[in-house]
Amino acid sequence: MQSIQQTDFDAFSAKLACISKGYLPTNRQALIDPIEKWDQFYQDYKSLYFEYLNTIKISTLKGKRLFLKITRAMQSSQPVMNYGTYLRTLSIDIPLLQYLNSNLIHKQCQIVNLGCGSDLRCLQILNNKDIFPHVIKYIDLDFKESVELKQSILKSISSSQNSLVPIDTTWGGRFEAVASDLNDLDNTLLILKSKLDVKIPTIFITECTLCYIKEKESQDLIDSIRTVFDSGLWISYDPIGGANSDNRFGIIMKENLLMSRNLDLPTLLLYNSKESYSNRWKNYKDVKIQNMWDFLNSNLHPMELKRLQSLQFLDEFEELKIMQNHYVTMNARW
Ligand code: SAM
Repeated sequence: MQSIQQTDFDAFSAKLACISKGYLPTNRQALIDPIEKWDQFYQDYKSLYFEYLNTIKISTLKGKRLFLKITRAMQSSQPVMNYGTYLRTLSIDIPLLQYLNSNLIHKQCQIVNLGCGSDLRCLQILNNKDIFPHVIKYIDLDFKESVELKQSILKSISSSQNSLVPIDTTWGGRFEAVASDLNDLDNTLLILKSKLDVKIPTIFITECTLCYIKEKESQDLIDSIRTVFDSGLWISYDPIGGANSDNRFGIIMKENLLMSRNLDLPTLLLYNSKESYSNRWKNYKDVKIQNMWDFLNSNLHPMELKRLQSLQFLDEFEELKIMQNHYVTMNARW
């Protein structure tokens, strides 16, 4: 379990690398179809992430070591990784904001980030109450240790001067960081039902989370959310193994992670194609899936592609293409 939790620090340092090199935040002109509220959503992005990083150092006993680990990883991040993190972030944020905008006037809605780790979308939404007044609840869910760490960091940030986090780190009861093992479906559903109104449209985010959960457990989770909640949107991002027999990407990735980190990706080779990955949401509607290479080519404005090229010299263009063909972004409604 510890090795799975540690993946959050990889994700967090990758995002910081992206920010420090100027990939993120980006503005609405970056997109072929600009999205309303995009710029406001990203307005404090850099400050939020660096405030969180700097607070890690002082907020826990192990904080200093963790801070060094994260900054070291951040500094060594390669351009190909920075592109990947940039695309990953946008692939979640585009459907998220589209959905929030579509519900803006009449409806209330709720957001649940399953396997949230150190992701700070909660702050981007909750700090902007005038822009997202209809988000009445935001739940971040992860293992107990991860959630406790996040809570203690948010508390520390909120007590510093000129902080971007308010003293009330529940944002008036709108935010909760809750602990649950997603493999324990009964407990997870019990918690979600006790904290949320199942009649209100709810967005579920799984960003590099489902890939750590076994086949049956992840399928049961997907099926149950559809039956428990009346309506909503599921946004998911994960690696896929690759379906062709001559494609060894997934096999090598799985072996490497198992050997170097004792980390298993139980469904990487099972949901190895766009079709097999999205088929898990077959009881949902409007299921959309793209690999990240197609996402890059169909969502980004040519000017944004130029801007990205100007940030760092990308030598490994072929590598980027292969990698991005092995990650997918999926969204589905019900
Ligand atoms: N979603 C975050 C992001 O993209 O920045 C973190 C991604 S990190 C790669 C995977 C996260 O999923 C970790 O925080 C990990 O603890 C969480 N996770 C994996 N399996 C889980 C489970 N069974 N129950 C709860 N959380 C889990």
